[in-house]
Amino acid sequence: METTQTFDVIVVGGGHAGTEAAAASARMGARTALVTHRLATIGVMSCNPAIGGLGKGHLVREVDALDGVMGRAADRSGIQFRMLNASKGHAVRGPRTQADRKLYREAVQSILQEYQGLTLIEGEADDVIIDSDQTISGLKLKDGRVLNTHAVVITTGTFLRGIIHRGEEQTPAGRLTGDNTTEAPSVGLAQTFDRLGLPLARLKTGTPARIDGRTIDWSKMEMQAADPVPTPFSFLNEMIHVPQIACGMTYTTQETHDIIKANIHRAPMYSGQIQSRGPRYCPSIEDKVVRFADKDRHQIFLEPEGLDDPTVYPNGISTSLPADVQAAMLKTIPGLENAQVFQWGYAVEYDYCDPRDLKATLESKRLPGLFLAGQINGTTGYEEAAAQGLMAGVNAALQATHLTHVSRGSMGVNDSVSRETAPVFILDRAQAYIGVLVDDLITRGAPEPYRMFTSRAEYRLTLRADNADQRLTPLGIEVGCVGAIRSAKWAEKAADLGEARVICSRLTASPNLLEKHGIIVNNDGKVRNIFEILRYQDVTWEKLLTIWTPLESIRPEIAEQIQIDAQYAGYIQRQELDIEAFRKDEGLALPVDLDYASIGSLSTEIRNRLVEAKPATLGAAARLPGITPAAMVALLRHVKRQKPDMATSDAA
Ligand code: FAD
Repeated sequence: METTQTFDVIVVGGGHAGTEAAAASARMGARTALVTHRLATIGVMSCNPAIGGLGKGHLVREVDALDGVMGRAADRSGIQFRMLNASKGHAVRGPRTQADRKLYREAVQSILQEYQGLTLIEGEADDVIIDSDQTISGLKLKDGRVLNTHAVVITTGTFLRGIIHRGEEQTPAGRLTGDNTTEAPSVGLAQTFDRLGLPLARLKTGTPARIDGRTIDWSKMEMQAADPVPTPFSFLNEMIHVPQIACGMTYTTQETHDIIKANIHRAPMYSGQIQSRGPRYCPSIEDKVVRFADKDRHQIFLEPEGLDDPTVYPNGISTSLPADVQAAMLKTIPGLENAQVFQWGYAVEYDYCDPRDLKATLESKRLPGLFLAGQINGTTGYEEAAAQGLMAGVNAALQATHLTHVSRGSMGVNDSVSRETAPVFILDRAQAYIGVLVDDLITRGAPEPYRMFTSRAEYRLTLRADNADQRLTPLGIEVGCVGAIRSAKWAEKAADLGEARVICSRLTASPNLLEKHGIIVNNDGKVRNIFEILRYQDVTWEKLLTIWTPLESIRPEIAEQIQIDAQYAGYIQRQELDIEAFRKDEGLALPVDLDYASIGSLSTEIRNRLVEAKPATLGAAARLPGITPAAMVALLRHVKRQKPDMATSDAA
């Protein structure tokens, strides 16, 4: 066995989780390696060429606020930017863009090249090496190379024992890449997970055929244009330079549904060939036809995959029916009657690891130094993967660099003990969608592929896409995952925001004075400042500019932020009470060795659930499925009896 190199952190997988993990770890100053099958496939979008959307767009902004890669790559490759829910409040608006697949991949690869301290290694990870105190010490590649490390982040997506299904055909593979090439499944690592006793189960996901856009009759489509002024994802960018295109819209027909129903026994999900669950919110067309039998048509978006690529992605008809059935289906769809296909749709079934086995840092509870992120944790989507990757990368780097410092200071320190004292970076549910995502995964698991929605966040008025930098960039700077360029840009914005807030709090007017300028507020004699005036619905910044000239010194992006903050201020004040109560429960840590058996009043089911999950805090216990308020009271009493000072001393 040949020892090649030593790294603080090794990331396995060059998908969306892997690139963020590797980039974050490198930004933290850790010597990092990214090991992936093929360097050329780093940043490949396995399914739809789009980034963002409702809830998902919030995640991209948060990843960006922590100096991640995804937002910048989307800005360099986005060909149809749209702000979803633009007519609704900012809290539920979802930035989204259609991406040029090639430009996106190139952008990710070129951003990674900029990181010093990041080494890209082509190869297949086959096994992890565990040292005598049962913690990670290295990674073995299939070709025999061995890499030494303190921490491994595994982000292998749909590759663990992946099997592709199309009709009766089954092919061992992690995915297909556009040109029908199959990428081999990852079997060695799946066996490693078996050996380590990590809880694996199966999930599935699917993708539609890829169509030659030159054979589509676009005249039969409704067209959907991009926003006239695209809003960048990244807080570093002020505008988008990529040309914007329109997408087409068509619908399935009754004839399409008849063909699907007549062949449903050949669909792997219905023939029994696939047993595992797929994404409920992104069902295959056969699933939609069966589950929503009363609907006579389903919408299809025809999304060009690139500016100089004829491939079109028909969003809405993901399928694993056999190719002959897919061909017959397409002929019944207006505009697709003569469509030629580059690659037929398929489903992939893969192993994932139950994320309830992870800590909030995304480190395995069973094997110190092993971190998991992305689809391997039961999620679906690039954005969910990226968010986890970033968090796992930061925490792996924190732990690995801590270990290096400790071992330099004192010889023979037990690794697993030192790891427990490493600093951690955890975001809670009131700080970020990333916090919601991680908390949902580690407390509730992923019995079906998990995707983000704004409805999953209870504090969504606070967690807006527009203020992700205000919420997270300072935290990122503190932990060390934000680079110099963004730190400088943030410092400038923070100073401008601060100054603008001072100006806005000093400029005041009475109801009578405002009325003279055509602004009607409650006639209560109360003198209001700019923030208070902006809470009235019809008041615009432009109007205020006509009254107060000092406002002209505030640049437009800052003025927009002030307006949004002002509109939400009242709601947020009310939400702060809820957040305070939440933090109190989160602050009450539950001992790892808590003896749940000695809490008499718990039912066996609840006791088992607590023993299995070992929640880190009272709040996390409350969010476990099936935990009743009575059980919470019993748990709180028990903990207080054991450690009477706990409720006050540990509360945040
Ligand atoms: P991936 O992007 O899959 O990246 C995994 C990486 O790990 C790859 O680079 C691979 O080469 C590498 N790798 C694997 N094993 C090894 C190993 N042993 N050694 C070295 N490298 C390894 N998302 C949606 O939001 N909606 C959808 O409808 C949807 N449908 C999908 C359909 C299909 C068929 C597929 C494949 C994916 C679909 N996705 C969908 C999911 C989306 O592609 C993933 O959620 C996202 O890519 C996951 O990112 P990831 O980083 O976890 O894994």
